[in-house]
Formats: sequence, C-alpha cells, structure tokens
Amino acid sequence: MMTTPPKPTGGDEICPLCKKPKSEHTNKEMLDCSRKLRELETKDEHD
Ligand SMILES: [Zn+2]
Repeated sequence: MMTTPPKPTGGDEICPLCKKPKSEHTNKEMLDCSRKLRELETKDEHD
C-alpha cells in the first residue's frame, strides 16, 4: 500500500476571498487579499 491520505489540516490556509489555498496565491494576490481582508476587519470593528 503506497497511498497517502490527504491531510485534513496541512497548514494550507484557505483564503476566504478567493477560496483557494494561500500557497497558490501570487505575491500580488497575497497583497490584494490581505489588504481586502484587513479592510473588512476594520470595517467590522468600526460597525
Ligand atoms: Zn485570496
């Protein structure tokens, strides 16, 4: 048996914005997503 079961939590955080692993982001995407996420958090706190 040489099957490797998929890890449920391999540390690959899923981006809530584009729904894909952060490891698949380009540098630009990472910047955009983290910025938008921060804006959302800020807006949430402000409300
Ligand atoms: Zn993203």
